[in-house]
Amino acid sequence: MSNIPSEETIQRAAYVTLGCKLNFAETSTLRDQLEAEGIRPISEGEMADVCIVNTCSVTETADQKCRQAINRLHRQHPNAAIIVIGCYAQLKAGEIARMEGVDLVLGMEQKGEVPARIHELLARKAELRPTGAACHESVAVATKDIRTFVPSCSRGDRTRYFLKVQDGCNYYCTYCTIPIARGRSRNGSIASLVAQAEEVARQGGKEIVITGVNIGDFGRTTGETFLQLIQALDRVEGIERYRISSIEPNLLTDEIIEWCAQSRAFMPHFHVPLQSGSDAVLRLMHRHYDTALFRAKVERIREVMPDAFIGVDVIVGTRGETAEYFEEAYQFIDSLDISQLHVFSYSERPGTKALDIPHVVTPQEKHARSQRLIALSERKHSAFCQRFVGTERPVLWEHAREGQPMQGFTDNYVRVELPAGHTALDNTITRITLTDFVR
Ligand code: SF4
Repeated sequence: MSNIPSEETIQRAAYVTLGCKLNFAETSTLRDQLEAEGIRPISEGEMADVCIVNTCSVTETADQKCRQAINRLHRQHPNAAIIVIGCYAQLKAGEIARMEGVDLVLGMEQKGEVPARIHELLARKAELRPTGAACHESVAVATKDIRTFVPSCSRGDRTRYFLKVQDGCNYYCTYCTIPIARGRSRNGSIASLVAQAEEVARQGGKEIVITGVNIGDFGRTTGETFLQLIQALDRVEGIERYRISSIEPNLLTDEIIEWCAQSRAFMPHFHVPLQSGSDAVLRLMHRHYDTALFRAKVERIREVMPDAFIGVDVIVGTRGETAEYFEEAYQFIDSLDISQLHVFSYSERPGTKALDIPHVVTPQEKHARSQRLIALSERKHSAFCQRFVGTERPVLWEHAREGQPMQGFTDNYVRVELPAGHTALDNTITRITLTDFVR
């Protein structure tokens, strides 16, 4: 007797993931788990037995993309069970459950149950198939009390992995739905996360991006600290590079910055959300810092890591951002020694406190402000990259197909390219001299 399932009995899953790195990490873990349990991902042209949509709800456009993905999957795989998870599923479970083709909507607290629920659903569908009865009877389960931390680690490519260390947020910024969608701040234990990093090293992974919703808040549920976490991860043999995906400026302590500067594997690379360079707007947003604190953090990074890449998130057109406040914000951002901006346009979200702020920015004005900041970002990024032309830096090379140029990132996050013919460098770190800067 063999336990290997025949081609007939193998079940296949299609995945669609929208949103942030956290969702990608979670889908990747789910895919590995289901594959180990006999449900393999579809190859091109195959029909799926189950479709899993991991959704995002950061803006109204994100919600719309989720609905489009569900409709598309239902058209392409009419007999498949459709399961919807993620932030949009948590916020609008009933609405999604009413969509054609959707069988199951699971909220954040149910994320850990997804594999078991999929097996149940597929078994029920298989039972009904000979009778010809349809099984599109939707169920939505999304409880408000979200406490469980579901560990996740995804393979971005062979060189880079995304390790989720924390989930949820306790901050309640006025424009943000994350605390409603993902629940209160919680985290994995340092021991469990080190074990996951060791597993990445065993699989040959060289770089880990530490992800979470508010990762500086790490340790609420285990009594540990973010600094202790990164110190423990730094000791994992085989992992050559760590990057911190994004950390709130008020939680990025000088101690963390100084420790990263002398660590073995933490790269000179920070991503810090500013959101607005106007103190009045920061207050309206209920952020936990002011522009003076933000400037101090950037300066501290520059003192101890002069070559560090500093990426900064900014939101334009939030309610209350008058033309004067935007101008003030622009001047502040321009004065910072940072490497790149990630510009987001404010989107109204139901249930947020921002809706009580009277001043609304028109879509045209939002667009114009966004364009100005994008141009500023391009200027800053070019200046940052130009600084390193003619210098030598270590690069981790990513997988490239035969005949294709090799690409990789320097320690300080400058994307570099080598002409074709160097595929042997795949997943290795070499020092190279940066010769030219091409936009
Ligand atoms: S810190 Fe603010 S913006 Fe970030 S997830 Fe928490 S509530 Fe949302």
